[in-house]
Amino acid sequence: MIILKSPEEIGKIRAADRIVAKTLIALKEMVKPGMTTLELDRAAEEMVRAEGARPTFKGYRGFPAALCVSVNSEVVHGIPGKKKLKEGDIVSLDLGADLDGYFGDAAITVGVGEISSHAQRLMDVTRESLYKGIEQAKEGNRLSDISHAIQTHVEAAGFSVVTDFVGHGIGTQQHEDPQIPNYGPKGVGPLLKRGMVLAIEPMVNAGGHQVKVLDDGWTVVTRDGGLSAHFEHSIAVMPEKADILSEYAER
Ligand code: MG
Repeated sequence: MIILKSPEEIGKIRAADRIVAKTLIALKEMVKPGMTTLELDRAAEEMVRAEGARPTFKGYRGFPAALCVSVNSEVVHGIPGKKKLKEGDIVSLDLGADLDGYFGDAAITVGVGEISSHAQRLMDVTRESLYKGIEQAKEGNRLSDISHAIQTHVEAAGFSVVTDFVGHGIGTQQHEDPQIPNYGPKGVGPLLKRGMVLAIEPMVNAGGHQVKVLDDGWTVVTRDGGLSAHFEHSIAVMPEKADILSEYAER
C-alpha cells in the first residue's frame, strides 16, 4: 500500500533530506586521491549526527556503516574500508538519515581527480536519467512512466540499467511501497497521486546490466567489471511537477 503524506509530513521528510543533501555536497568536496572510503563514512556519520539526525543505513539489516561507498565497478551497497581512492576512480555515495522519525535518502556519483571522458559520460547520463524520471513523477501519470523515461534515456546512450535493484517509496520507513524499477513500459502500475514520496535511483552500467553480490554479503558489482554510476533523489509527487526534497544534492 502506498502511503500518501500530508504537506506537514512532506516538510519533515524534506528536513531529513536537506541533511542528506548537505552532507553529500560536503563529501563531494572532500573526495580526493589517497583518501580512504572509511574517511568518507566517518565524515558522513559525524555530519548527520551533528544535525541531530541518525544515519539510517548503519545497522540496517546489519550494514556496518553510515554511508554506502561504491567505487568503479561497484554498483551499490559498497562497504567503506581501508581502500584508498585513486585518480580517475568514480565513487558513488549513498546516504540515508532519519530526523524525528522521517527518512531522507539520496545518492551521487563523484569523480576522483581527473576522470576519463567515458566515466564522465556515464555519470552525466545517469544523472540526466534521474531527472528524466523525476519529470514523469507528477499527478495523473503512472508509476512506470518514471521507469520508462529512465530506461529510454540510458539505453539511447548505449548504457544499461541495473534491473536487480530498484527505487522505493520512503517516509516513516526507509523502504515503503511502491518499488520503482528503472526499466519498463509506459503507462503501467499505480496512478501517481499528490503526497506520494518516492526515492528514485537509477543504477547504470557502462557494459551489461548483470550484477552480482560479493562474499561480504553487501557489495553489488557489475558482472563484466565495467563501470557503474548511481544517482538518487527523494521527491514528492505534485500536480504539475515533482518537488525534489533532496534538491541540494546535485544539479
Ligand atoms: Mg534509496
